Amino acid sequence: MSDNRAKWVYIDGRWTPWADATVHVSTHALHYGSSAFEGIRSYEQASGGAAIFRLEAHIRRLFDTCKLLRMPMTWTPVEVEQLCVEAVSRNGFLSCYIRPLVLRGPGGFGLYPMSCPVELVIMAAEWGRYLGAEGIENGVDAMISSWRRFNASTAMPLGKIGGQYVTSQFASIEARDGGFGEAILLDSVGNVSEGAGENLFAVKDRELITPPLAASILGGITRDSVIRLARDLGVPVTFQPVSRDMLYVADELFMTGTAAEITPVRSVDRIAVGTGRRGPITERVQRAFFALVEGRSQDVHGWLRAVPAAQEAVAPPQETTA
Ligand code: PMP
Repeated sequence: MSDNRAKWVYIDGRWTPWADATVHVSTHALHYGSSAFEGIRSYEQASGGAAIFRLEAHIRRLFDTCKLLRMPMTWTPVEVEQLCVEAVSRNGFLSCYIRPLVLRGPGGFGLYPMSCPVELVIMAAEWGRYLGAEGIENGVDAMISSWRRFNASTAMPLGKIGGQYVTSQFASIEARDGGFGEAILLDSVGNVSEGAGENLFAVKDRELITPPLAASILGGITRDSVIRLARDLGVPVTFQPVSRDMLYVADELFMTGTAAEITPVRSVDRIAVGTGRRGPITERVQRAFFALVEGRSQDVHGWLRAVPAAQEAVAPPQETTA
């Protein structure tokens, strides 16, 4: 995020220059992962200006994650939404990534978090294609990770909890260091769960198949959007356990996520998926998705939140001389 980062970060209840937006080393979240976060995208619109995609759904999930962490929020969802809008406009961004973060602040060394203050941070940065611009068109090579997605008896898969992302990091390192574009994790019983930071869809006989929430996935907002867009396009969607070998014989495979958007998977464990290229249904869903988020099609679901244009510095009124 270093080059295209925002000038202003919201922290400690105010907009602060990037370099000054720091936390103390005793921050509980740094030691124990006690943070809730979101990743949200704003898109430059075909008609000009910017719009944030599914802001309300992201903030609802942020509040759900805070609930799982027992972190009391003193901000309302509407206030957090407004701060996200401001993070885009105040920094003069159009297409960017917004990162709200709620964390447990300074405290002692104890695990028990309840006495640590809860802090809200909003960051933003211009950010391109997470899995590469080329990946969106040609697809990425994925591997089945040796790491399993944790289940609801050891952690909270439905929450976007900072500490839980160590598993995704292990999987990501294993995949990238092994020459793959992304990792796919199985759940604790051996069914397919999701990517390190994405949900997964298979296409078989012109139907979309995706693992259910019970497969320890994060309930992705892009996943939900794709399900609805597919239905709009007349493509059936089923939720069912997906076995590892189903991936190898799928006609098409793609990943969804705010960062990854819709990225085709062209191989799994070096086995080509279908023709080894982006498939026709993936392409149709991608087209519908990008047309919607960029404001080139009608926003029938009401998913876009317009961002007011960056405020120009208002010059003091000039004294007129007669
Ligand atoms: N799974 C995991 C583990 C993720 O981190 C993400 C990214 N938030 C997703 C799935 C996709 O979720 P979304 O579409 O809401 O970004």
